[in-house]
Amino acid sequence: MSLDRSIEKLEERFEKYLSERGLRHSRPRELVVREFLKTSEHLSIEDLLKKVQRQDPKIGIATVYRAMNLLVEASLAVKREFATGSSAYEKMPTRHHDHLLCTGCGRIVEFHREAIERMQDEIASRYGFILDFHKMELYGRCKACRKSG
Ligand SMILES: [Zn+2]
Ligand SMILES: [Zn+2]
Repeated sequence: MSLDRSIEKLEERFEKYLSERGLRHSRPRELVVREFLKTSEHLSIEDLLKKVQRQDPKIGIATVYRAMNLLVEASLAVKREFATGSSAYEKMPTRHHDHLLCTGCGRIVEFHREAIERMQDEIASRYGFILDFHKMELYGRCKACRKSG
C-alpha cells in the first residue's frame, strides 16, 4: 500500500469516528490530522503546531490539542508522557515498542528487544503478576549531544 493510500485509509477511519459522534471535520482540523498522519515521528504539540502553521499561520494551539485528543480517542494516535515532563504523540503502533530518549535534545528512538520483553514477563510471573502493559524508557544523551558537549 502506498503511503498516500494508507494515510487516506486512516483519514477515512477518523472521519467515520467523527460522524458517528455527530462531529464535523473542519478544515483546520483536517490539516492537523493530515500533517500528523504523514509523519512517522514522535511529535509534541509544539512540533505539530509549527508544521501546520507553515501551511496556515492562523491555526492555533487549541485546534492542535483538540485534533490530537480526538485522534487518541479514535485509537489512531497514542500520547506518550515521558519522565522528562515532555510528551509526544505517535501513530497507533502496529507492533509494541519501547523508547530511548535524549535528555539533551529530546530525540526519541524506538526499539524492540524480544529478550527484554520476555524478561519482563518472567519477572512479573515470578511475583504472581500477568502484565497488562509496560512502559520501558531509557534516558541518556545521544551521540550528537555528546559531541557538542
Ligand atoms: Zn541529543
Ligand atoms: Zn514510539
